[in-house]
Amino acid sequence: MANFITLAVDGGAGTGKSTLSKLISSENKFMYVETGSLYRAITYLMLEMKISPIDVGSEISGKELEFTSKIIKNKYFLYVGGRDCSLLDLRTAQINKQVSDYAALPAVRSFLIEFQRSQVGVAKLNGFKGIVMEGRDIGTKILPDADLKIFLFADFETRMKRRKKDGELDEIRNRDLKDLQRKASPLQRAEDALSINTAIHNQTETYSIVNRELLRLK
Ligand code: C5P
Repeated sequence: MANFITLAVDGGAGTGKSTLSKLISSENKFMYVETGSLYRAITYLMLEMKISPIDVGSEISGKELEFTSKIIKNKYFLYVGGRDCSLLDLRTAQINKQVSDYAALPAVRSFLIEFQRSQVGVAKLNGFKGIVMEGRDIGTKILPDADLKIFLFADFETRMKRRKKDGELDEIRNRDLKDLQRKASPLQRAEDALSINTAIHNQTETYSIVNRELLRLK
């Protein structure tokens, strides 16, 4: 494989991005960054501070919103305002419902760009062989020069079933619509991304397709 590989995984809610990214990261010693957590953490804090999307303004700042990350025993930890994000409940029905409204705000998106890009350096510094970053705009906006771009999709029924199995209340159709229709970095397949239909290909097949592409980057 090339010295260090950047892999972008994008797709709608419930398309299997996390499952694929976790597997790639554990099998290939890649650092895994789930960018949805950043938008969820911002939403969590905005709800805590009772700031609605229309009150956010054109720029955001503040120590309580500052993101940092740390690698402990090869595991990636994300912090916001010094709080460990893995200890915040970021997958509540309320956050699922509102996250896309905050994520659509240009102020929120531009606030997060630099942090996301800086994680490539964190992965290199910590001796990972690559980075797998998943989200909605990784291939189009955050890492446009990624070595490999994957775009996952699946029909609505398949995705709903997955969410129900996870026991999560999530109106994915609404969330996807908002993510697709927003002006700032909408959910979009990068032109040079490889599309995989995860309603047709199961987890193992999807992983093999991506792994074959990774081996080609040698
Ligand atoms: O990936 P996850 O479902 O946790 O993402 C939650 C929400 O965060 C998405 O529905 C979307 O509104 C937003 N998001 C985004 N851009 C990303 C990752 C997530 O807008 N790169």
